[in-house]
Amino acid sequence: MHVVRTVQELRAVQAELRNHKRTSCLVPTMGALHTGHLSLVTYAREHADEAIATLFVNPTQFGPNEDLDRYPRQEAKDLATFEDNGVHAVFVPTVQEIYGPGDATTVSMAGPALGLEADHRPHFFSGVATVVSRLLLAALSDMAVFGEKDYQQLQVIRRMVADLNIPTIIHGAPTVREPDGLALSSRNAYLSADERAIAPMLHATLQRVRERLQSGEDVDRALTEGLERLTSAGFKPDYLSARDGETLGPLKQVARGRLLAAAWLGTTRLIDNVALA
Ligand code: AMP
Repeated sequence: MHVVRTVQELRAVQAELRNHKRTSCLVPTMGALHTGHLSLVTYAREHADEAIATLFVNPTQFGPNEDLDRYPRQEAKDLATFEDNGVHAVFVPTVQEIYGPGDATTVSMAGPALGLEADHRPHFFSGVATVVSRLLLAALSDMAVFGEKDYQQLQVIRRMVADLNIPTIIHGAPTVREPDGLALSSRNAYLSADERAIAPMLHATLQRVRERLQSGEDVDRALTEGLERLTSAGFKPDYLSARDGETLGPLKQVARGRLLAAAWLGTTRLIDNVALA
C-alpha cells in the first residue's frame, strides 16, 4: 500500500494507475476507522479496480466550540486497517498541504447545504465542500464513495460535483449499524455506558416516525411525537425533519422523502436518517 502525503505523490499514484488502465474509487475519511468506513472501502473495491483512501481531520469543518481537538486520531492503526482491507494508496496530507500559505478559496453553497445541520453548525458545509473539492481534484479518481449516514453531506457533495463539473462519479453507500440499530460513528466512542444504552432510540424513533408517515399520518403530528419520544428518552434534539430526498427542500411526496435527525446525548451529538420509500 502506498502512503502519500503530498498532492504531487498522489497524482503520481493516479498516473501509474491510468498507465495501466486501472480505475480508482476515492474513500475520504477523517480516520478513527470503524466498520462503516470499511464498508466504503469494500464498496470502492467492488466498483473500481483500486480503492484510494484519504485520512485527514479537516479543521475547516469544525466550529470554534466543536470537537476538533478531541477528535480521535490514530494514524498508524488506521493505516494498518486500510492495508488489511486491500486499499491501494492512502493520502495523509498535513493541514498545510491542503490549506497552503496564502490560501484564499472557499466553496460556499446554498441548496441542500441550507437548513438542518447548517442551522446548528454554520461552518460545516463550506468546510466539507471546500475540502472535498480539493481532495477530489487532487486525486482525480474515476469515482468517490460517501456514506448515507451523513445524508445531507452526501447531497451537498453531489450538488457541488455537478455544479463544478468535477469529473468524478459520486456514489452513496448504505449506513452500517450496530445490531441494536445505532449507526456506527467515530463519535460513539464519546458515549458513557448509560448514554450508549439510550443511543439506539434515535434510529428506533426514525423508524417509528417513518411507519406513521407511510401509513398516512399528518407529517407535523408524526414529527412532534417523534421529538417528544427523543426528549423523554434523554436526548436534546437539534432537529427531526422530513425532507425531499434529493433536494432536501420541503417534503412533496412521502415515497421520495428522507427523514433526518440530530440529537445530543450529554456532550455527544448523534445524527441519523432513513429513507421514507
Ligand atoms: P468521517 O470519517 O466521519 O468523515 O466519515 C468518512 C466517511 O464514512 C463518510 O462518507 C461517512 O458518511 C462514512 N460513514 C461514517 N459512518 C458510517 C456508517 N455508519 N456507515 C456507512 N458509512 C459511514
